[in-house]
Amino acid sequence: MNISVIGAGQMGNGIAHVFAQSGHSVNLIDIAQASLDKGLATIGKNLDRQVAKGSITEDQKAATLKNIATSTDLAAGVKAAELVVEAATENVDLKLKIFKDLDAHAPAGCILATNTSSISITRIAAVTKRPQQVIGMHFMNPVPVMKLVEVIRGYDTTDAVTKTVVDLSTAIGKVPVTVNDYAGFIANRILMPMINESIEALFQGVGGVAEIDAIMKLGMAHPMGPLQLADFIGLDTCLAILRVLHEGFGNPKYAPCPLLVQMVTAGKLGVKSGEGFYVHTPGSKDLVVSPAFGK
Ligand code: NAD
Repeated sequence: MNISVIGAGQMGNGIAHVFAQSGHSVNLIDIAQASLDKGLATIGKNLDRQVAKGSITEDQKAATLKNIATSTDLAAGVKAAELVVEAATENVDLKLKIFKDLDAHAPAGCILATNTSSISITRIAAVTKRPQQVIGMHFMNPVPVMKLVEVIRGYDTTDAVTKTVVDLSTAIGKVPVTVNDYAGFIANRILMPMINESIEALFQGVGGVAEIDAIMKLGMAHPMGPLQLADFIGLDTCLAILRVLHEGFGNPKYAPCPLLVQMVTAGKLGVKSGEGFYVHTPGSKDLVVSPAFGK
């Protein structure tokens, strides 16, 4: 299949990787050449890790890389696409603009999917002339490792389009789970209030970063504490999702914690900026609590 992926950030490069590894021809598109370069470098590193573990061969690595082309030109990059998966920054206005452009430039039969974490599929679909072909295809981070694809049907999404996306997800080794379209769908409607409450508990001084994460890891058998997970997702993305939940349901329980807002304002975005609740040093797996939350 000819697949275009919009956005080469943490999610986009992973999505390109898994499609290319399954033999699909991928056009990876970003507005920034630097993001494309970084995305390709990440794919190369992740493939090296798979080779080192023995899960793929050097030839499979080379074939995967050969299946990926990159471009900063959206119109040219989607003109032969059968499926587009949009994974640009979590921002409503940006996504509406991208979907208008995709509708104008992708072939009439092309399915337009979005990897949005929270924004209404129906709202995105409404700016196109093909709402029946717009669907949510929500991969989890890190994409090459995580099995789930949350498939979200918008108001007009057809059974045929849903089946194509479900079958494709299965064919690339993922496990699709289909849900309906309300803010945050299922994954983030449940995950983000937990992360927000953890930040609120830190903000109120009920516990420190390490203590909150240790309680959720050891007490609830979570593989990663909620504050570490927030750093991993990106605090800007967490804030954007909470705002969508807050606006979408009009319920104050989703209001983002002021500490989260403050950290994003200060550019402390987690792994991607090098600091969030923890300090992240490239190449190091040590969990070092940020000095801002030190004892
Ligand atoms: P990111 O910040 O790592 O990457 C976003 C990329 O989009 C950047 O490379 C940026 O240059 C690019 N971009 C911005 N505007 C663009 C445009 N007009 N055209 C093309 N590219 C553009 O973000 P991310 O974490 O990869 O998130 C991307 C999407 O995936 C968001 O919708 C997010 O909610 C969703 N998502 C994120 C996670 C996660 O754990 N981070 C998990 C599931 C889904």
